[in-house]
Amino acid sequence: MSDVDMPQIESDDDRPGLRPFTLHIDFLAADDHQACQQAVTYAEGLNQLRPEVDGYTARVSPAEAWSQVTAVFCGAAGPHDMDMCVDAAGHGGLHHGPGGSWLA
Ligand SMILES: [Zn+2]
Repeated sequence: MSDVDMPQIESDDDRPGLRPFTLHIDFLAADDHQACQQAVTYAEGLNQLRPEVDGYTARVSPAEAWSQVTAVFCGAAGPHDMDMCVDAAGHGGLHHGPGGSWLA
């Protein structure tokens, strides 16, 4: 796993006193690639279930090395404010946002 620019949580929720927190969840995978693929699935599921959670900021690491985090999603900026690529990190080809709209 390598260091990458991490997507930052962005929210329209401006209620006073709120600040970001991170949830760490353990699961089993055969290797880093499989772990990233499973993390994409878990984060997308959480996005569907709980819209207030920004699953696109998900990061994955070996359970014993939380400091070795890797972004789960590409996160490349799109042509409009707040657009970002929601493909898995390191994907090939064009970037695209939620719903399959092509960004570039
Ligand atoms: Zn991308």
